[in-house]
Amino acid sequence: MEWDSTRRTFLKQAAGVAATQLFPAAPLLIGAETSRSNPGWYGRPMRWAQLAFVEDDPGNYDLGFWLDYFQKIHADAACLSAGGSVAFYPTEIPLHYRSRWLGNMDAFGDILNGCRKLGMNVVARTDAHAARQDVYDAHPDWIAVDEKGNKKRHPSDPDFWITCALGPYNFDFMTRVHQEIMTKYSPDGIFTNRWAGSGMCYCEHCQQNFLAFAGLSLPRTLNPQDPSRRQYVVWHQQRLFELWRLWNEKIQAINPNASYLANAGGGALSELDMKTIGELAPTLFADRQARSGLMPPWANGKNGKEYRATLGTKAIAGIFSVGLEEKYRWKDSVQSGDEIRLWVADGMAQDLRPWFVKFNAKPIDRRWLPVVEEIYQWHYANQGYLRNEKSFARVAMVYSQQTASFYGGEDARAKVEDPALGFYQALVEARIPFEMVHDHLLDPEHIDRFKTLILPNIAALSTQQCDQIRAYVAQGGSIVATYETSLYDQWGVRRNDFGLASLFGASFTGKEEGPLLNSYLTLEKDPASGQFPPLLAGFDDATRIINGTHCVTVTPLGAGAYSPLLLVPPYPDLPMEEVFTQPAKTREPGVLLREIGRSRVVYFPADIDRTFWEVLDVDHAKLLRNAVLWATNEPAPVTVEGKGVLDTSVWGQKNSMTVHLVNLTNPMMMKGPLREVIPLPNQEVSILIPEGRRVSAVRLLVAGGSPHYRKDGASIRLTVPSIGVHEVIALDLS
Ligand SMILES: [Zn+2]
Repeated sequence: MEWDSTRRTFLKQAAGVAATQLFPAAPLLIGAETSRSNPGWYGRPMRWAQLAFVEDDPGNYDLGFWLDYFQKIHADAACLSAGGSVAFYPTEIPLHYRSRWLGNMDAFGDILNGCRKLGMNVVARTDAHAARQDVYDAHPDWIAVDEKGNKKRHPSDPDFWITCALGPYNFDFMTRVHQEIMTKYSPDGIFTNRWAGSGMCYCEHCQQNFLAFAGLSLPRTLNPQDPSRRQYVVWHQQRLFELWRLWNEKIQAINPNASYLANAGGGALSELDMKTIGELAPTLFADRQARSGLMPPWANGKNGKEYRATLGTKAIAGIFSVGLEEKYRWKDSVQSGDEIRLWVADGMAQDLRPWFVKFNAKPIDRRWLPVVEEIYQWHYANQGYLRNEKSFARVAMVYSQQTASFYGGEDARAKVEDPALGFYQALVEARIPFEMVHDHLLDPEHIDRFKTLILPNIAALSTQQCDQIRAYVAQGGSIVATYETSLYDQWGVRRNDFGLASLFGASFTGKEEGPLLNSYLTLEKDPASGQFPPLLAGFDDATRIINGTHCVTVTPLGAGAYSPLLLVPPYPDLPMEEVFTQPAKTREPGVLLREIGRSRVVYFPADIDRTFWEVLDVDHAKLLRNAVLWATNEPAPVTVEGKGVLDTSVWGQKNSMTVHLVNLTNPMMMKGPLREVIPLPNQEVSILIPEGRRVSAVRLLVAGGSPHYRKDGASIRLTVPSIGVHEVIALDLS
C-alpha cells in the first residue's frame, strides 16, 4: 500500500522533469510490500547488486549481460556509479571530471533505466575522497592537509589528491553533484563511498572551524584525555552529521522519496555515533566485505547485530565482496565459492540482506557469478521466511563507542574490542542466540526484551547509564560484567569506585594488576551445599583454572561472602624449581555472584573475555557460558545439541518463525578462505514456541523437505540430519 502511493508521487515528479531526463516507468512490482517499520521504499529490496564502474567501462562493457544477470538473480535494487571522482553521465558542473570513455554517452543513465525496467530500486553511488590536479589548481583549499602542513597526495595513485571531507569540497562541490544527479535522474537515494575523510585534516577550513567550535587548535595527539583531542572527537562527528543532513535535505528537496544513504556505521571502533546514525538513516548498508587476516566468519553477523542495535527493524543490507579483501587490494580477484557462501550465510542468519559488489563491469574471472546466482535464487525462493520482524534472543551484549574513544584511545582494539570478540566467540561456541545493544540505548524500550545484558569491559559509562542498568536489574534483568566495567565516566576519567559497585557487590581498592603471568583461580565448593555451583558446571575434576591476564582488585561489600573462584596470585614461572605457590590461594574473589529478586549479577574482576580471545582456553569458554546461563535462568528460545561450531539465531516473521544454523566448523574457521565445507551431522534442536501459537508445518529451507518433529511441553524437538554451510528451520505458525 505504502509503496503504491510512494510510487505515484514519484512518477508525478518524474513527469515534471525535462523529456530527455525522463526514464521509462518501472513496471508494477509484483509482490512488493513495504514493512510497516520502513515507510517509503527502503524496506522493500531484499537483494542488492552493486556494479562499481571503472573509468573505461562506458562503451566497453556489456550492459545487456548485467541486466540479464540482475533479472536472473532476482536482484530488486542496484547501487550504480554516477559521479564524484569520475562522472559517468554528462555532467555540467565545472571540475566534475567526466570519464574519458564517456563521449556523448550516458553510462549511468543507461544502466539506471535498464534496472528501472526490471522494477529495481536504484541508488546512485558517488565517491568523494579523491580529486585531480585541476581541482587542486582551482581550489587548493579543498585538499586535505597533513600534520606537517603538506597537502595529502593519494597514497594509491599520485595523480590524485585526497580531499578534505569537512570543508567546501564536500559541503559545496559534492552538494552540487548530488543535486545534479537527483535533478537529472531522481534515483531513490545517493550512497557515497569514502565521504567521511581520510584521517585528520589540518587545512585552513578545519583549523578555523575547530577553533570556532572549541576555542582550541586541532589536536596533535591521539590521547583521548588531551582536551583538544576530546573536543575533536565531538566536533568531527558533529561536522559529518551536518554534512549528512545537508545532503539529505538537498536530495529530498528534489525527490522527497529519496535519501542520502551514507556509507557509515559499525561497532565500538567505528567513528560516528551509531545512535544518531540509527535516527538519521532510513536503511543502511553494512560494509564489511569479506574476511581478512585472522577473523572468524561470525564477524559478518556481528556487523549486522551492531547496525540493528540502533536501526531496529529498518532494513540493513550486508555488502560483500566477491574477491579477496586483504591489504594488498586485489580488486579483480575472485574469492573461493565456499568462503562467499559462508560469509553471506552468516550475514543472512543475522538479518543482513545480501548486497554483492563488483568493481569493473568487464569481469575478468567469472567464477563468482554462479555462486552469487545460487545464493540469490535460494534467497528469492525463501524470502517470505527472511523478512524478519523480531528476534527471539534473550541475551544481549553491550557495545560502547564512547568506551573505545575515551577509554580505549589508541589501544581501543586491545582494550575494548578484544573483550567483546572473546565474549562473542564464547556465546557462539555455547550456541546461545544473542543480540547487541548500543550503550546510548539502555532505555527500557531497547533492553527490556532481554533477560541478560553482557558488559564486556564496558569501562566508560556515565552516571545516567549506570542508573539505567540499575533500573534494568530492578525490573528483573540480569547482567554479566567483566574487568573495568563502569570504572570510568563517559569521558574516560577514572572514578574512585565502580559506577555499578552496588550491583557488583564489590568496591574497587584502587589497585590494578597486569599483565599477570602464571596466575590462577581456585575452584571452591559452596559451603552450604558442599557442591560446585552452576557457574562451575563441567569442571568436576578441576581444582584450579587459569586466570585472566589483567585484573582489578576488589573488596566484597558483604564480608565473608562465598566466591566460587579464589585468586591465586602470580608466582615464579622460572627457574622451574621455584614454580610453586606461596600462598596456595588468597581470599580475593575471582568472581562475584549475586541474586537480587529475579535478577542475577555475575562480575569477573579479571579480563576473562579478553584473555579468552587471546588464548581460547576451553575453561574460559565454559566459565563464560555458565555465567550467561546462570544469569539468564530461564528456558532458552532454542537449544542445539551436537558436534561442531554453529552460529545460531531465532527470528519471527508475520506467520512463521525461523531458526538459522550456520556451520562454522572448519579448519579455516579462524582464517579464511574456506577450502571446502565440512558438513555437520545430526543436530538435536529444541525450539520454544511463542505462547498462543501453534506449529502447523516445519520445513528445512536448505536441505528441503519436512523433518519429523515432536512436541515437548512448550517446545518442539527435531533432528537436522546434516548441515552444509547453512540450514534454516522454518516453522509455520497458526
Ligand atoms: Zn580540512
